[in-house]
Amino acid sequence: MTKTIWQTTASLVLALSLLLTPAATDDAIADDAIADDAIADDAIAVIENNASYNFAQQITFTLEATSTAQVTKVYLVFAATGSDQTETRDVFFEQEGDTIRASYMHDLRLSPLNPFDTIIFRWEIEYDGDKRYTVGERQLEYVDNRFAWGQVSDEETHITIHWIEGEGDLKFGQTALDIARASLQDINAELRAPLPEAINIYIYDTQDNLNAAMILSGRDWAGGQAHPDLGVIVVAIPPNSLVATSRMERFIPHEITHLLVYQIVTPEGYRYVPEWLDEGLATANERLPNVDYGLMIEEYQQRGQLIPLRELCVPFSPDSQTAYLSYAQSGSVVDYIRERYGAQGIRDLLAAYKNGASCTSGVEEALGISIDALDANWQASLAPQSQPPPQPQPSSWPAWVQRIGPWVGLWLLGLLLALPMIGRTRRRR
Ligand SMILES: [Zn+2]
Repeated sequence: MTKTIWQTTASLVLALSLLLTPAATDDAIADDAIADDAIADDAIAVIENNASYNFAQQITFTLEATSTAQVTKVYLVFAATGSDQTETRDVFFEQEGDTIRASYMHDLRLSPLNPFDTIIFRWEIEYDGDKRYTVGERQLEYVDNRFAWGQVSDEETHITIHWIEGEGDLKFGQTALDIARASLQDINAELRAPLPEAINIYIYDTQDNLNAAMILSGRDWAGGQAHPDLGVIVVAIPPNSLVATSRMERFIPHEITHLLVYQIVTPEGYRYVPEWLDEGLATANERLPNVDYGLMIEEYQQRGQLIPLRELCVPFSPDSQTAYLSYAQSGSVVDYIRERYGAQGIRDLLAAYKNGASCTSGVEEALGISIDALDANWQASLAPQSQPPPQPQPSSWPAWVQRIGPWVGLWLLGLLLALPMIGRTRRRR
């Protein structure tokens, strides 16, 4: 009977502690639910239950409690929400009179965690032989606390924009929030995805700072990215620059698309979604159309060097030029599917992959044609000059393109340098 009461109390404590845990950007969490823990058991009362961390260095979990019983074991159990793996540590503890103290340092250099993940932890105290006391579960938001973050949220969509304080301000954050909110609405008019519980968008001021955060935390991906399983988007957008808004208009809807695709196909189905469809949707949804993509496709079509669609089922080539063409083609194919088959065609494709279709069979199932036929139809739909001329003909380009040709070249170079921003990074490895 006491056990039942205990379990009920423990659930209440857990629910309360989850409610009370602040969405802190601070490096430590507060002891808010401790008084309730103390009620749960006569033998053991918790004084301190904390976790603090230095980003990419270590997390220290600390427990202090009083116990009238003889404690035999203290375990720390923790897991990141983005991971399937629960870590259980038999933690060294000291008992002096009625007081027990335990602390555990998790080395993030050896066992990194995903930046911006949530760590859920609890302590298990064994005492008097076979009895066990659980210290209510807590959570720790593992943000990059090398920086102080400002934030602004939208209550309706649960989108929060975070920027580095001093590298952006409320106006900067609000601009990003407006773009994110409008993007979510527009994109989901087509996809009809169940909305994520929350979307957190972290804006680094430079690509270097973003890359450093990823490298520090031992991730082999770099650049801006979506972590659909966490509802987290990380991008680099320099504040106070002419390109700030245009970058927001490209990167934010791109990464939001990945979150929504993940929501539709579920975690189990996400691995079946071909790269051309996921990246194609993300690229086609960018709010600032990329003129270079069209020019590049035209050029490669004339040379007869477009990448066969079936080769874009898998992660894109690490070669930047090939990757760039892959994004361009994928976005264009998605545009074609929208035009020819409508939003229903897109939804049917995602439904097929959600159910585990292969890259080729998904197209057959959803659109009723083979992937090669889709590829051929898309190419035929492209340019008015579908017969490849022997030489690329600059004269066929619009006059304004010829006029600003060198600038397009520079722009293209800039975009290539920025390519890792939308790089092959949507899946954690
Ligand atoms: Zn992407």
